[in-house]
Amino acid sequence: MRVHHHPDCATLMAYASGTLSEALTMVVACHVAWCPQCQRELRCHEETGGAIIDRMEAVPVKPGCLDAVLQRIDAECREARARDCAPELAGEAHRMGLPRPLCRLLGRSLDQLAWRRIAPGVAVYRINLARGARGRLMLMRIASGKALPRHGHSAGEMTMVLRGAYRDEVGRFAMGDIADLGHDIEHKPVTDSGADCICLIGSERPWRLRGLLRLVQPILRL
Ligand SMILES: [Zn+2]
Repeated sequence: MRVHHHPDCATLMAYASGTLSEALTMVVACHVAWCPQCQRELRCHEETGGAIIDRMEAVPVKPGCLDAVLQRIDAECREARARDCAPELAGEAHRMGLPRPLCRLLGRSLDQLAWRRIAPGVAVYRINLARGARGRLMLMRIASGKALPRHGHSAGEMTMVLRGAYRDEVGRFAMGDIADLGHDIEHKPVTDSGADCICLIGSERPWRLRGLLRLVQPILRL
């Protein structure tokens, strides 16, 4: 798979430092799982973060505090590694054609989901995040040859293509590509392959729909 569109540098740094919302974190994690270039860049950010911590002035803490923190970090890292590296999860994700983080979250393939049709050729599946998690996460399936209505995005939205491809004013986005819509843009995506296009969309705010669509936006829950 050749990935052409990546998250921007600021997004990747925010992901590395854990400051992105849960919804956006999931989209970036899915992209990183499929993108060797971002995996390398992420390692650089993590090494830079480590170097900064190394140079920070030490402050006095209670005895045993450092050991407790290090043990907690170790335990969490071990758990995360065990989850992500489990051979059965890797095999299952590959079989389902999903990035590992999404495979873990959905537990089934894209064809087994209860898609909700919201317009001719367009269906969505909302993914429940943990209670208290920030942002909204959903999958959208657009049939081959269909277009979405023109709409706008605010900062804090990312779309990753899982299957098929679409084209808009920015370019062509295919499997693994991520549209980091961190600016006020408006676009009209049109599917651009012989198959349905399925995207994972993480957002912190609802879309800005135009005209009559704004009236039905609460019903569509977009
Ligand atoms: Zn990338």
